[in-house]
Amino acid sequence: MNKFVLENLHVKYSDGVEALKGVSLEIPAKSITVLFGPAGGGKSTLLRTLNRLNDLSDVTEVSGRVAMFNSDSSATDLLNPRLDVIALRRRVAMVFARPIVLPMTIRENLTYGLTLAGERSTIRLHEAVERSLQQAALWDEVKDRLDEPAISLSGGQQQRLCLARSLALDPEVILLDEPTSGLDPISTTKVEASLQEIKMNYTVILVPHSIQQAARTADQAAFILQGQLIEQADGKELFLNPRDKRTQDYIEGRFG
Ligand code: ADP
Ligand code: MG
Repeated sequence: MNKFVLENLHVKYSDGVEALKGVSLEIPAKSITVLFGPAGGGKSTLLRTLNRLNDLSDVTEVSGRVAMFNSDSSATDLLNPRLDVIALRRRVAMVFARPIVLPMTIRENLTYGLTLAGERSTIRLHEAVERSLQQAALWDEVKDRLDEPAISLSGGQQQRLCLARSLALDPEVILLDEPTSGLDPISTTKVEASLQEIKMNYTVILVPHSIQQAARTADQAAFILQGQLIEQADGKELFLNPRDKRTQDYIEGRFG
């Protein structure tokens, strides 16, 4: 079962840079797909296509097909200019490299979005707080301090709070753009463990901060270089038996 199908996706910025040059890729539901490759290759641009955050950047040309499949197997055309992007971003959440917590308590960070969406039940709000913190592997560390400012948390805890904040809204897809690049190894391990749990119920697409993280976490991996998808494979296959010389050279550290 696919969550996304991309066909011949081209994305060009206003300065003329063609960030994606005809990428075709299938992304399965309920697993972790890793998009990796050197900086500038177009990984962030690709992620932003999936929740239309590119609408807010200097993208001037997008072509190809990007379909997201719904539970009834109908497809939503993600390039449709009339798409309700607010509704889309509730279904497709994004976690960025730098945790940006809201200047509120830990609890309020998690209930803010739900309250905006009209949820009034304190029971359901509390359930969402506990569930999302459990899913983000943060509950045990914060359950006795939910009403303290979120800013009092460590960097690693703040990033897991950002992940929990996405999960509180119960999306279908979580996009993560180098979410552990600024974290210590213990927090990184916790985020990775959390993703292994989350993938049972959500589609996870991760741009990892290292090849090692890519190899540890991938159910599928795609190597992206200079706007092109060089190859993709299931599981650890890409890291054990890369077919393309460029993939092999990158994995072996011959360029970065
Ligand atoms: P990655 O995430 O793999 O490092 P990006 O998607 O950030 O790659 O960038 C791909 C290419 O698009 C790069 O050449 C980058 O300079 C360019 N790019 C990214 N964002 C913008 C922007 N807002 N305006 C112009 N060019 C951009
Ligand atoms: Mg990037």
